[in-house]
Amino acid sequence: MRTRRLALEYIETTMPKRKNIALVAHDHKKAELVEWAKRHREALAVHQLMATGTTGSLIEKETKLQVEKMRSGPLGGDLEIGALISEGKVDVLIFFWDPLAAQPHDPDVRALLRIAVVWNIPVVSNMASADFLFSSPYMNGEYPRQVPDYEERKRKDWPLRGG
Ligand code: PGA
Repeated sequence: MRTRRLALEYIETTMPKRKNIALVAHDHKKAELVEWAKRHREALAVHQLMATGTTGSLIEKETKLQVEKMRSGPLGGDLEIGALISEGKVDVLIFFWDPLAAQPHDPDVRALLRIAVVWNIPVVSNMASADFLFSSPYMNGEYPRQVPDYEERKRKDWPLRGG
């Protein structure tokens, strides 16, 4: 991975052509994500896929694509993907979360969405934005992702929390 320092507080890191894509769908959104994955099967096939347990099994079964499976979301799978994002091992998060149902693991869901923003990776939450994302030339090319340089901010004593 190539990196270069920009302004003091940002680092540019090159996202490779072949992306690590994480896929997650809440129960009432799984059918939608599977349909979307079938429609984009060819485009997905050139990337490395990972998913929470149940979502991953379904996508594998329905598309025959290989998916690295974490634990099921409510059992820690969301947090596993979040940890991989913070380690720079996820380039894109496709997370069809359910706006109409309460989730027992809501804190984990929020943590996952939050950490994707912290590390400035593309994160999409519905079919339309996933379609837009997959029509981007960055999907099959490199992308110069700017990442906040949290170490530099710490050295300069920037507040990492709001308020
Ligand atoms: P699942 O997890 O794919 O194992 O169902 C998704 C979630 O609910 O976060």
